[in-house]
Amino acid sequence: MIQLYQPLNFMGMVYREIKQAIIDIEMMFGVLTRDPEVKDVPGATPLLVTSGAVRFEDVRFAYEPDRLILKGLSFDVPAGKTVAIVGPSGAGKSTISRLIFRLYDVSGGRILIDGQDIRSVTQASLRSQIGMVPQDTVLFNDTIRYNIRYGRWDADDAAVEEAARLAQIDGFIRMAPKGYETQVGERGLKLSGGEKQRVAIARTILKGPPILVLDEATSALDSHTEHEIQEALERVSRNRTSLVIAHRLSTIVAADDIIVLDQGRIAERGTHGELLARGGLYAGMWNRQREAEAARERLAQIDDTV
Ligand code: ATP
Repeated sequence: MIQLYQPLNFMGMVYREIKQAIIDIEMMFGVLTRDPEVKDVPGATPLLVTSGAVRFEDVRFAYEPDRLILKGLSFDVPAGKTVAIVGPSGAGKSTISRLIFRLYDVSGGRILIDGQDIRSVTQASLRSQIGMVPQDTVLFNDTIRYNIRYGRWDADDAAVEEAARLAQIDGFIRMAPKGYETQVGERGLKLSGGEKQRVAIARTILKGPPILVLDEATSALDSHTEHEIQEALERVSRNRTSLVIAHRLSTIVAADDIIVLDQGRIAERGTHGELLARGGLYAGMWNRQREAEAARERLAQIDDTV
């Protein structure tokens, strides 16, 4: 019996890992946004992450033939740095995050992680090294503790709570009727978009991957929530290679490099200060967002006085 224990235990572990990788993909993007053609090549090796540097080399991509979405993108996300991608709706920003996670294969060019073409490594190893905070996080109909532990099944209670604290969601959980044992979902506690995203951040903190891809939620958040999420993101991305797909420019002011994508091409690139001084596409987006925020605040003040 004891002789059987180790292999069985190992098989159980492998099964859990595979199952988690599959659920991860389906949960984060929905089965429909995944290309069934993506397969491990024969002899695929595990991804070996040394520093976690990501490189896009002349990447082209089309969901449908004849409609190129990414038209030759080249950029680096140096190890430990934060690169933000911004740009108008439909520019191809979220497509970039799907390609890094290899939900689709590039149509041309290549994506490298520490020099390895991501098509040559196993999908399971690739996905185990990337933490994904998607736009919309799906939660299980289970306890909030279970939902956070999903980031790493063997994490103990203290680690789950520490991750929640770093993700700025611990206070909210403690106020719930049964704290960490509160059920979430249809018949339980309902979480707002911002709260769900912080649960996703807590999961990612628990997973502790060397590479992070954050796809910011499009929905407008109130400035307090935005500030809390911002702090949580800064903590999770510190010293990790991070690619942030941003909709609100205020969240990426401190990024090491900002890429402005327009119709599948890099239109501008630089730090926040450099791009503002340039007075181009980014500066225009920044000014429009500032005006929209000011208008929202004025409206809120009027609401308060009536
Ligand atoms: P947003 O800021 O609105 O989220 P985005 O820059 O992230 O936009 P993507 O989601 O990358 O844009 O989409 C880029 C283009 O690809 C869009 O024109 C979109 O309609 C198209 N597209 C996205 N997903 C698919 C798909 N599964 N099949 C076909 N076309 C798609």
